[in-house]
Amino acid sequence: AKTLGMGCSIQFFSANDDEAATRRHLLERDLTSALANDQLWLAFQPFLDLGSDRIRGYEALLRWQHPTLGPIPPSEFIPIAEQTGLIHAIGHWAVKTACLAAARWPRDLRVSVNFSVVQLKNKALLDAIVETLAEAGLEPRRLEVEITENVLISNFEETICLLQSLSSLSVTVALDDFGTGYSSLTYLRKLPLSRLKIDRSFVQDMLTDADCSAIVKSLVELAHELRIEVTAEGVETLDQLDYLRRVGCDEAQGYLIGKPGRIDDIPAIAARQFGVGS
Ligand code: C2E
Ligand code: MG
Ligand code: MG
Ligand code: MG
Repeated sequence: AKTLGMGCSIQFFSANDDEAATRRHLLERDLTSALANDQLWLAFQPFLDLGSDRIRGYEALLRWQHPTLGPIPPSEFIPIAEQTGLIHAIGHWAVKTACLAAARWPRDLRVSVNFSVVQLKNKALLDAIVETLAEAGLEPRRLEVEITENVLISNFEETICLLQSLSSLSVTVALDDFGTGYSSLTYLRKLPLSRLKIDRSFVQDMLTDADCSAIVKSLVELAHELRIEVTAEGVETLDQLDYLRRVGCDEAQGYLIGKPGRIDDIPAIAARQFGVGS
C-alpha cells in the first residue's frame, strides 16, 4: 500500500500488495520450522578498537536461508518473528549459539547479541541468559546485549530493571542505531548503558553534510561525558575512519573493517589480529 504524505491514512491497494501478503504468509509459515530445519545461522561482524587498532569482538547477526526463496534479510523476518512470538525461541537460540562460539575465542574478545524491545518484555529472558552463560562457560563481561528499539519501549520501568540485573552480572548493554527511531536522551539518562552505537545513516553522511559531522562529534562528546563508549556503525571508507578517530570515537564497525561472515572464518581473523594459533 502507498501512503500519501505524513500521517495521511488514505491507502491504495494494488497487485503488489497481494504478492507481498502471499510472501508474508509463506514466510510466517516457514519461519515456524526454520530453527528445527537448521535454516537459521549467525553471521559475525568484527568491531575495531580505534585506540589500539585491534579487533575487540564480534556482533552476531541472524541469517535465514530459505530453501526456495534464498536468503531472507533480518529486516524482513525479524518483524514477523516479533509479531508471531517466534522471536523468543529464535532469540534464545541466537544468544546460546553466540555464547558457545565466543567461549572458543581469545578471552579478550566479546560477543554482542541483538535484542529487540519485544524480547525484553519476556520475563524468562534474564534466567535464560544466565543459564546460557553458565552452559557455554562464557564470562558474563564478554557478552554485550544490543538493544534495538524498533518499537517504543512501553514498559520502561521493567526494561530498566532487566538491564540493571544484566549489568549487575557484568553483562554490558549497548544502545543500537542511536539517533534513529524512538531513541531518546532519556535512554542515555535512565538505562545502564556501557555503549552507544551511532547509526550507519549518520556515518554515511558525516563527511558530506556539515550538520551530520557536528552531530557525530557532539554525540561522542556527550556519551563520553556520561561515561559511555561509542561505536560507529557502517564505516565503509578510510576517510570516515579518520574522521571518527579525530573526534575520539572508541570503536568502528562496518564493511571497511569486515563484513558479517561465517563463524568458521573467525579463528582465522582472530589469529591474524592477535598472532595466536587456531
Ligand atoms: P544492526 O544490529 O544495526 O546491525 C547492523 C546492520 O548493518 C547489519 O545488517 C549489517 O550487516 C549491516 N552493516 C554492517 N556494516 C555495514 C556497512 O559498512 N555498510 C552497510 N551498508 N551495512 C552494514 P543486517 O545483518 O541485515 O541486520 C539488520 C538488523 O537486524 C540489525 O541491525 C538488527 O537490528 C537486526 N538483527 C540482526 N540479528 C538479530 C538478532 O539476532 N536478534 C534481533 N532481535 N535482531 C537482529
Ligand atoms: Mg546491532
Ligand atoms: Mg545497529
Ligand atoms: Mg543501524
